[in-house]
Amino acid sequence: MESKLTSPSVVREVLAGLGIRPLKRLGQNFLVDYNLRERIVSGLEINPGDRIVEIGPGVGAITQGLLEWSEDVHAIEIDRALVGHLRSFFGPRLHVYEADALETDLKSLLGPAGKLVGNLPYYISTPLIAAVLQARPAVAVLMLQSEVADRLQAPPGSSARGALTLLAEYAADVEAWAKASPGQFYPPPKVSSQVIRLLPHPSPVALSWDAIRPVVAVAFRYRRKTLARALREGLGLTLQDATSALEAAEIAPQRRGETLSLAEFGRLAACLADRGSLPAQDDPDDAPN
Ligand code: SAM
Repeated sequence: MESKLTSPSVVREVLAGLGIRPLKRLGQNFLVDYNLRERIVSGLEINPGDRIVEIGPGVGAITQGLLEWSEDVHAIEIDRALVGHLRSFFGPRLHVYEADALETDLKSLLGPAGKLVGNLPYYISTPLIAAVLQARPAVAVLMLQSEVADRLQAPPGSSARGALTLLAEYAADVEAWAKASPGQFYPPPKVSSQVIRLLPHPSPVALSWDAIRPVVAVAFRYRRKTLARALREGLGLTLQDATSALEAAEIAPQRRGETLSLAEFGRLAACLADRGSLPAQDDPDDAPN
């Protein structure tokens, strides 16, 4: 019988056999809890024939559960020694790519209806979530540090709200799926974790994300300032022009970015675009935070 890759002793044995000490810099905290693994896999609602993409399979705890349901599992792992282990452990049943998930074309790999899963390496969870949302899987189940999971679900008015929250609202329904404690990983991380489920939906506002993104970026870059001042600093408008655009969008100029809903950002972006106040090119500095 195949050994269970959610067993702490098996995971330690595999790592020792490979001469690997889990690397903090690669976010290597391996899942060692069978029930949590099953909860994660169930979130994908896998039907036979579904394409599944896993980011950061590690020793293969989640992968092993995926292969019980699908014969079309694709896993992207950056650590060469783990890639070697995954190839020899699972053989041709698993498609393994030795690659950086951030450099991988997730959309192509997912195909038209692929589903995505990952116990994400925490050091790059924010850009990875943005890449996942933009790749639009049929569903994504992601293990995240609680702070990031909270940011994804932060309502207007919450100080946890940021550009990533707005991108998530634009692209998907965000569902809290499971909580995880440090003892469910080897080695235990310093922070608690949460599993969230992303269910992509059609855009709830008329504008494209690329049209809204610069306004969201400016509002959160100057999150301590009023919106009128943030637009002045970030877009180089006069205070009068910034105030007038906000009033046209029916947003009080003294509000702060974290209080705005996605619909309000949409209205503001449309008013600023009408006035020719938005930069033509994306600001490379405006990655979600
Ligand atoms: N999925 C496994 C589990 O749940 O036990 C491992 C999760 S561990 C938190 C994150 C995994 O992502 C590690 O195996 C690590 O080597 C891998 N990883 C780190 N950075 C990566 C990157 N940029 N692209 C792909 N994999 C990466």
